[in-house]
Amino acid sequence: MAKVIAIVNQKGGVGKTTTAINLSAGLAEAGKFILLLDLDPQANASSGLGIDHKNLDKSLYDVLMGGSTFRDIVMATNHIGFRIAPSSLNMAGANVELINIPERENVLRNSIIEIRGFYDYIIIDCPPSLGILTVNALSASDEVIIPVQAEYFALEGLSQLWSTIELVKTHLNPDLNVKGALLTMFEPKQKLSQAVFHELYHYFPGKIFRSVIPRIISLAEAPSHGKTIFHYDPGSRGARSYERLSREILSLEES
Ligand code: ATP
Ligand code: MG
Repeated sequence: MAKVIAIVNQKGGVGKTTTAINLSAGLAEAGKFILLLDLDPQANASSGLGIDHKNLDKSLYDVLMGGSTFRDIVMATNHIGFRIAPSSLNMAGANVELINIPERENVLRNSIIEIRGFYDYIIIDCPPSLGILTVNALSASDEVIIPVQAEYFALEGLSQLWSTIELVKTHLNPDLNVKGALLTMFEPKQKLSQAVFHELYHYFPGKIFRSVIPRIISLAEAPSHGKTIFHYDPGSRGARSYERLSREILSLEES
C-alpha cells in the first residue's frame, strides 16, 4: 500500500511545489514508484513537469467530482516510476463544489483507495490555503511534510497550521503523522536563515529534517523547462539536497 505524504503550508511561495516535484523525482530515482497528486488550482506542479494543463480534457478535478478515474488522467513524466495526476484551472471550483458533497472532507481519501496498491508513495502538492482541498489532503494522508522558508515571517501561521492538523486528527484521520518541517531556500551565510532554523525547534522539537534545501537558482529555473532538478542540473547542490531528503525519508521508514 502506498504511503501518502501531503506537502502542506498555507503560506504561499515557501517551496511546496518545488519539494513535491523534486522529492517525487528523488524517490523515483531511488527505485520507488511514485504518483504526484497536483491538488492546487494554480497547477504549478503540472506545468513544472511540462504539462500543458490549460488544454487537458480531464484532471484530478474530474476524479474528485466523480466523473473520471485515475486511469483516465494519470500521466507519465520524464522519470521512470514517476507519474502525475495533473490539476487544472477548474480545480478552483472544487472549493465551492465540494461543500455540497456528502463526506466532503474524505472525497480524496475515498478516490485514492483504488490506486493505493499500485504505488510506493503518493505525494500531494497542496494549495496555499487551509481550505477544503488541503483538509482533503490531510484526511487522505499518512504523513505531512511542512516546507518552511528560511525568512523573517516564515513562522507566522505555523500555530494555525498545527491546530488544523490537530482538528483533522481528532475528527477525520487519527493516524496522521507530522513527518517534519523542511527548511527551504536556506542561505547558510545569512544570520537570518540560522535564526529561523533555531526558532523552528520550538515548533517542531525533534521533527526538522536534517536535509536542508539551499536557495539555488537552478531549482527556480528547472520548472520553466518542464524538468525536475535531476534532469535540469543533475550535478547541482539543489539536486544533491533533494536526493539527500529522499534518502532521509526512506531511512526514516526503515528505522
Ligand atoms: P504556492 O504557495 O504558490 O503554491 P509553493 O509553496 O508551492 O508556492 P514554490 O512554487 O515551490 O512554492 O516556490 C516559490 C518560488 O520560489 C518559485 O518561483 C520557485 O521556483 C522558487 N523556489 C522554490 N524553492 C527554491 C530554492 N530552493 N531555491 C531557489 N528558488 C526556489
Ligand atoms: Mg505550489
